[in-house]
Amino acid sequence: NTFQELGLNEDLLKAITDLGFETPSEVQDKAIPVLLEKESDLVALAQTGTGKTAAFGFPMLQKIDVDSRTTQGLILSPTRELCLQITNELKLYGKYCKGLNVVAIYGGASITDQAKQVKRGAQIIVATPGRMKDMISRKLVDISKIQYSVLDEADEMLNMGFYEDITDILSHTPEDKSTWLFSATMPKEVSSIAKKFMYDPIEITV
Ligand code: AMP
Repeated sequence: NTFQELGLNEDLLKAITDLGFETPSEVQDKAIPVLLEKESDLVALAQTGTGKTAAFGFPMLQKIDVDSRTTQGLILSPTRELCLQITNELKLYGKYCKGLNVVAIYGGASITDQAKQVKRGAQIIVATPGRMKDMISRKLVDISKIQYSVLDEADEMLNMGFYEDITDILSHTPEDKSTWLFSATMPKEVSSIAKKFMYDPIEITV
């Protein structure tokens, strides 16, 4: 398949050309068409380096409304480094999506600065669970209109003890959103979080 055949729009295809991506990776090939077509939950067993950021990033960028300033997409990731990496990738992928604002939220940096960035209107927030929970409890962020949530490196997040934080964060999001979970391994804890938060997910393995 080509990226065009996966159903991506012109803005994304132009960015993909700029980046020099020639063909979709396996996880992109499997995930992108279903995520674009359906409002479905997804569980993907995929390692880092497989192109999973674009596998959830492209569909999210295509589905959100950039004319609105409402936060519509939330990506939770285990570390500050990963959070910044995902944010940078989404900005590259979305460089032609006019009006797009992606904000990174993570611990160890000024919460006031991050709150200011959010307040300007971020359609997508990429966050580590601890800081995200903190910002929700201080009412510095509103995730009540989230339509797409991603749990990236779910096994790592659970290993790091973020179960309670994730549960708390997701309880502030709408019931009818889509949840896309990516994990390198599928231990019991990950399947149990999938059972708890997801409805009849599509499953893919790469
Ligand atoms: P990830 O697994 O999302 O961390 O991606 C690993 C790296 O592969 C990133 O630097 C991406 O920019 C790059 N990448 C993602 N998709 C493709 C693709 N289809 N073709 C070439 N490189 C890609």
